[in-house]
Amino acid sequence: MTKYFLTIDSDGHATNCSCPDRTYRSYKPCCKHMSAFDAEVQRAATFQALRQRFDIRLNGQEDSRRCYREMALGF
Ligand SMILES: [Zn+2]
Repeated sequence: MTKYFLTIDSDGHATNCSCPDRTYRSYKPCCKHMSAFDAEVQRAATFQALRQRFDIRLNGQEDSRRCYREMALGF
């Protein structure tokens, strides 16, 4: 399994990636890792919004955010 380093801005969006596809084809708006990460962030944000709405007692937000990030990087 190859892992690439993603650059994430303060809004949680991937702005760069260290993979060859991103390096050699930088004319493209993003590589598959960046779009996959953004998709995971969107899903995580949706999930957390729903969870906060339906169960405000849960507070494992940092853990789930880290979990989503590792999933996004792990391919
Ligand atoms: Zn990439």
